[in-house]
Amino acid sequence: MVVGPQQPPATRPDEPRCVAVIGGGAAGLCAARHLSAAGVPCTVFEQTGNVGGTWVYNERVGLDQFGLPVHSSMYRNLRINIPKHIMCYPDFPFKKDGRSYASHQEIRDYLKTYAQHFDLLRYIQFFSHVKRVAPQGNKWSVIVEELKTGLVCEHIFDAVLVCNGHYSVPSVPTLPNMSLYGGFSMHSHDYREPNRFAGMDVVVLGANASGMDVAVEVSKVANTVYLSHNQDRIPSRLPENVQEVRGVKEATSDGFVFLDGTSVRADAIIFATGYEFSFPFLSPECGIRTDNNRVTPLYKHLLHRDRPTLALVGIPYTTVPFIIFHYQIRYFLATFLGRVPLPSKEVMDRETEEDLKKHLELFPARHTHKMAELQWPYLRDLAAAGQFEDDMLPVVRAVYDAVEDDRKHRLLVYRSVEYTVTGPDSYERVMPVNGV
Ligand code: FAD
Repeated sequence: MVVGPQQPPATRPDEPRCVAVIGGGAAGLCAARHLSAAGVPCTVFEQTGNVGGTWVYNERVGLDQFGLPVHSSMYRNLRINIPKHIMCYPDFPFKKDGRSYASHQEIRDYLKTYAQHFDLLRYIQFFSHVKRVAPQGNKWSVIVEELKTGLVCEHIFDAVLVCNGHYSVPSVPTLPNMSLYGGFSMHSHDYREPNRFAGMDVVVLGANASGMDVAVEVSKVANTVYLSHNQDRIPSRLPENVQEVRGVKEATSDGFVFLDGTSVRADAIIFATGYEFSFPFLSPECGIRTDNNRVTPLYKHLLHRDRPTLALVGIPYTTVPFIIFHYQIRYFLATFLGRVPLPSKEVMDRETEEDLKKHLELFPARHTHKMAELQWPYLRDLAAAGQFEDDMLPVVRAVYDAVEDDRKHRLLVYRSVEYTVTGPDSYERVMPVNGV
């Protein structure tokens, strides 16, 4: 029986279904692929009508047709920032033709083909928005709204894999006097294309992946772009009308004052200030907390320490995400199926403490899920602990390191370099004719 949104949700007669997967993006598809291969029944709840998550470009910003925040943060001209040959799942290579730095459409097509190849569509319930997850004994209650009908149902599962994506809820700093500012402001989540900034003086706040991309793209039509950040100077040539400035100290009615006391007049500001982890459907009884960008209590950045049948997939960042998903899901499966025992809570806590220490030695306190070079031992550890094949080829790391250097030093042209993987640990790198 199903009931309307105002009444208590009904339990469906076809229970129990085994694993609930929340989200049909790259992580959720990977979950369905490995769960189905292991014979574990699963249902993927996806709130939109498509697979691919953030790779499904959407012109629309703000709310979607059901009143939910638009999920995708893709911009129209986005091309990936790591070559597709190393970005793909290890068991599903990208087709060989085409540019290394593919467009977002090509990644979406790749994910659609992955779903078709592994026959995953039959596990997905589209237009199904997960509203609430709560423990129920040793199982999980998952309350889902079918968006097209408004019907709300409760389903009971043995485990829940949270694959809701972590680049959707903007993190916007509170700038002193921002309410006085009369110009235009937006977060990069809502950025689609540069034309509205034609002829303007624009501050782009933040110089990580999106900030750099947006600053370079906007500079093609803007008068001046002020790329505001507190990192070291960018060691790459930038477009002539992009000026690096310090972080913003405060807004004025028509511009911004920076931390070094200089100021500019600006018609607009784009916040490229990143995203918040957000799990609005996890009830307080789930016991998941986010504090200073750290999600706890998680073992191996994945499993709920006290209820390991709840897993939060894709929390680590500065990684090769699809590969992380491919390893995390298999580790979850190994523990869920009892193929490998979980250590005692004392051992889990000790490991988590040691891991935290390593992160704090390398990164600021806000970045305890950042990986960078820690992603390689992390993947090896998941494979060893889960006793599954460590199938990422060594060439992935080699290309990743080469690309990182390119991105840093040749920001404007690095996407013109073509990579060809020639063996498990070898690749060729072809520069554009005019060199980089
Ligand atoms: P998502 O793709 O965000 O998918 C999450 C899914 O969950 C969505 O379909 C959403 O609708 C659904 N969902 C959310 N909440 C609910 C709910 N309550 N109920 C039901 N469904 C729900 N990675 C790279 O490897 N290379 C790149 O070049 C790259 N560039 C990027 C550029 C941008 C602008 C962004 C935003 C990200 C980029 N990434 C890149 C990272 C990208 O996020 C990951 O590659 C990956 O696609 C994340 O997959 P996901 O499944 O975790 O999340």
